Amino acid sequence: MAVVKADAYGHGDIEIALALQNIGAYHFAVSNVEEAIGLRKAGVKGMILILGYTPSTCFEELYKFDITQAVYSEECAQLIIDFKKPIKVQIVLDTGMRRIGFDANNTNYCIDLIKKYSKLMNLNGIFSHLCVADSTDETCRQFTRKQLDRFNKIVKSVSDLNLEYIHCLNSAGGMWHNDNSSNLVRLGIVLYGLKADYNRKLPDKITPALTWKSVVSLVKFIEPEEFVGYGLTFKATKKMKIATIPTGYGDGYNRMLSNKGKVLVNNKPARIIGRVCMDQFMIDVTDIPEVKFGDEVILIGDGYTADDMANDIGTIGYEVVCGITKRVPRIYKD
Ligand SMILES: *Cc1c(COP(=O)(O)O)cnc(C)c1O
Repeated sequence: MAVVKADAYGHGDIEIALALQNIGAYHFAVSNVEEAIGLRKAGVKGMILILGYTPSTCFEELYKFDITQAVYSEECAQLIIDFKKPIKVQIVLDTGMRRIGFDANNTNYCIDLIKKYSKLMNLNGIFSHLCVADSTDETCRQFTRKQLDRFNKIVKSVSDLNLEYIHCLNSAGGMWHNDNSSNLVRLGIVLYGLKADYNRKLPDKITPALTWKSVVSLVKFIEPEEFVGYGLTFKATKKMKIATIPTGYGDGYNRMLSNKGKVLVNNKPARIIGRVCMDQFMIDVTDIPEVKFGDEVILIGDGYTADDMANDIGTIGYEVVCGITKRVPRIYKD
């Protein structure tokens, strides 16, 4: 199952889903009904599963567009039952993350509910979500095994219902854990070639799908003691060659990168100096003498990935790519 929520982690959900469909993908997951309808209208065929909340005012659309809805609480189940039309649903079990789902610690309660709901709703699956499958820490690995055990116990007890879709693994789970009861793996971050955990290697040949490029809009020299940017946060100690890049936090280029991040110009690293503005920022190109107006600048790419950028500012690659705003055009190549 391809997880294409949040505009396919910023990559463009319609293009990504259609490209994956072309190579055989038939199961997709999103976070809300707008995303689901957008995909359906664009020609996405197979299952589109909404992983979380949908307001009951949108149930008609779930039905009309053949969208599968997660059912994660009794309130949410009752609304769907009351709606009467057979919306496809899958039950979410909370195996330890404490986000959404029926409390899988309470095995008998879950089993009874699943049996009951299978008669009252168009139920075709059960799933759960892992919250530390990326970690190598032994306590975390044990926690994941506990989550999988809780899930498996319930799945086994309702096996007579012959539910079609059973799934518990995300990217990290799929790469580093086993779940014998699952027949789907919900792959998100690894589809885009990014890491669930910065310190662990991705399987061979998996590389980031996205490169983010900008351009040098101006080159100039500054003297010792001169400042750069808002707040005078950078002061030159020597004569420097600097360049301006026409990208900023309005594009999702994180302001936390101020005086911290780097870019690549002609494959050479150049550090950010001063604060990132809404639409521009400045870099030090003193040691890259050939840099000139119009040169291509790699903000994220080979040599400085979204994961590297995230690591520099204390977040995760997921947030970096999700944060690239709509005003940055996405260009697709085969
Ligand atoms: C986001 C999400 C995924 C995908 O997670 P990755 O770490 O990106 O693979 C899978 N399942 C659920 C329920 C999610 O919310």
